[in-house]
Formats: sequence, structure tokens, C-alpha cells
Amino acid sequence: MRVAVINAGSSSLKFKLFAMPGARVLQSELVEHIGEPNSPIANHFEAIESLHVNFAKIDAVGHRVVHGGEKFVSSVLINDEVIQAIRELIPLAPLHNPANLEGIKVVQKKAPNIPQIAVFDTAFHATLKKEAFVYALPYELYEKHQIRRYGFHGTSHAYLLQQAALLLEKKVEDTNIITLHLGNGASACAIKNGKSCDTSMGFTPLEGLVMGTRSGDIDPAIILYLQEALHVKPNEIDAILNKKSGLLGLCGENDVRKIQSRKDDAAKLALDIMVRRIQKYIGAYMVVLEDVDAIVFSGGIGENSAYIREAVMNNKILKNIKSIVIKTDEELQIVNECLEVLKK
Ligand code: ADP
Repeated sequence: MRVAVINAGSSSLKFKLFAMPGARVLQSELVEHIGEPNSPIANHFEAIESLHVNFAKIDAVGHRVVHGGEKFVSSVLINDEVIQAIRELIPLAPLHNPANLEGIKVVQKKAPNIPQIAVFDTAFHATLKKEAFVYALPYELYEKHQIRRYGFHGTSHAYLLQQAALLLEKKVEDTNIITLHLGNGASACAIKNGKSCDTSMGFTPLEGLVMGTRSGDIDPAIILYLQEALHVKPNEIDAILNKKSGLLGLCGENDVRKIQSRKDDAAKLALDIMVRRIQKYIGAYMVVLEDVDAIVFSGGIGENSAYIREAVMNNKILKNIKSIVIKTDEELQIVNECLEVLKK
């Protein structure tokens, strides 16, 4: 059978078609700059229209959906109720869930009879216990407003777990690892006995590690200070934290390849801060896990930058811990989850 995977981001759309079983890639397309000024592609409908795809020859479509909230703890077959629930979660993921929904609706229109499956970025972290996901805020903010840690990059961490278990020759349910997905967005995950038990991204993907353009952890009082003392507006603070911080804010660019090749102090400091943050999370997760079989590096930086991997592991505490590099494949994880859902 042929299963397509659609990963609709806020301004991009990745499409991959797999022959299953076996996961042979039959087709792979990327549409970028959707809805941006001067772009020929105005929206996700046009993006899907622009693909060279005959939906009549596809048996199922899997969609990456960023936010599944507390409702979705695994992948599901899409129906009207699921669509409504994803819509209700838009306030928690205002840029991503609408794009994901758009993708689902376009396929419904073009091929109303093929099953569609939603695979959520948050679902892998549904196993977090309360002590890991509740913030130390007034408890009613969790109860009434669902403010809690959700965690993201779940399909990647889940894929890394499967591959690491194979490499380590362990059963998934006996595997204890720290996975580091280090791309432009970056997150760490503590996996105990094959289950996510803590992760660095939180209520949104802003928390945690230093990323390409996101700050990761900061003192929340900085936001109040920006607002009150410096009169920075909330939407400007949002842009600072999400788009102008991280490596870009520290040294003027977010491409680790380029930053590594620079010799200036700002570039070195940016990488030092990123490495220190990764080490702090590893340290915390080693205590949470107690047993660590390996640290897994992945994402564009984790897979390709020996400099960053060595800088992270160059530490007395870490010298006896195995580190492994695994190329992540979120689309492959999504297509495998689609088959699981269809089997049921
Ligand atoms: P995204 O989150 O956008 O999918 P990627 O996983 O592709 O991001 O990772 C992008 C990051 O990987 C960039 O910082 C890029 O510089 C870095 N990267 C890619 N190749 C290399 C390399 N050979 N050496 C160092 N960094 C690299």
C-alpha cells in the first residue's frame, strides 16, 4: 500500500510518499514560503495543489499535528470529532494547529474516502507524571487553563528510542536514555524504561535548550521587566524570545555550521552557552533516570556537528557514558504509526 505523510508547518509543507511495508520512499517534496509576501503559494491549499500527486493512488495519509493537548495520547484515525478537538487546541498552538488542520481539510476535499491519521508531537510525552508536567504556579492555572508542560518533538524522540534500543540490543521497555534532538528547534528527553518521563520543551516549544532563534529557559521576571521598565509590547516580546534570541541573538546567526567556522568571541560564547545548557539538562536527567544506557544525539546539529557532541561529552561525569548518533526520521515514524492505527 501507499501511505503519504504530510508535515504542514506554519510556512512550509513537507510531503513524502512511502510504499508499505518496507518504507521505500516513492516521492518527496517540499513547499516553502507559504503565505509569505511575494510567494506564489498563498496558503496550504495551494501548497498541496502544487504537489505532483495523484491522491487516487494513495491508500492513507498521515499528518503531523503539533499539539494534541491532554486529549490525544497516541495517534488516531481522523474523523469530525478529532478535527473539532484539534481546532479547540488552536489557542495552545496558534501557528501550527491551523496549518495542520488545513492540510487535513485539503486532503478530505481532494480524496474524501481515504483514511487520514493524526500523529501528535505531544503524544509521546503523555507518560510524564504530574511532578514532571505541573508548573509551580497556582494549581488552578493547570486545572482551569491547561497550563502545564506538554513537550514536543515527540515523533523524533519516539523514533530515536526505537533505533537506540536496536543499537543497544535492548528491549524498548528496558531502555533508559537521554535523547537530544538538536535542530533549529531543540529539545532533550529523559526516557525511562521506554517511556518519556521528562522533557525540556514545556507549555510551548520555547522552554529548555538554547535554539537557533529561541531563548529556551530564562528567568520569567525578564519578561515583566521588558514590559514594564522598557515598555516592550507583548507581541514584540514574543518576537524577541522566539525569533531574535538563541544563537541568532547571541552571535547574529543561527547556522551552527557557520558559527563553528568563525573565530570571534561572540560565536564562541554562543556555542559555549548552548553546550552548557545541554550539559545542565543531561545532568538533571541523569539524576531523574538513575540508570542511563546512552545519550543520543540527533537533529541537524546532533547528527553533523562533532564539535558540539565533543564539547557536550567533554566532562568528567559523562566520560563513562556511551554516546550515540542517530539520524532522526520523523516521517518514517509517522508512517509506521499510521500502519499501527490502520491495523487496529
Ligand atoms: P530544523 O529544526 O529546521 O529541521 P535541522 O534539524 O535541519 O533543523 O538542523 C539545522 C541545524 O543543523 C543548523 O544549525 C545547521 O547549521 C546544523 N547543521 C547542519 N549540518 C551541519 C554540519 N555539517 N555541521 C554543523 N552543523 C550542522
